[in-house]
Amino acid sequence: MPLYEYYCPSCTTRFEELRSVSTATATATCPQGHAGAKKLLSVFATVTSGGDAMPADASCGAGACCATPSACNMN
Ligand SMILES: [Zn+2]
Repeated sequence: MPLYEYYCPSCTTRFEELRSVSTATATATCPQGHAGAKKLLSVFATVTSGGDAMPADASCGAGACCATPSACNMN
């Protein structure tokens, strides 16, 4: 079964739980026993969207896209 991350608003705790795909979006019970914890977006998805936002800037900061670092700063 896949591992999913959940967030409990009652105790503001994030925890992971193994769930079948069919029940992944249902609310979970946190380690402290609160019902109603909601599934979070996976860490993988968050990293992917952030990388898509500014991939050029990341390489530009290292001087990979410009002849000189100063040219990067002028953009
Ligand atoms: Zn809780």
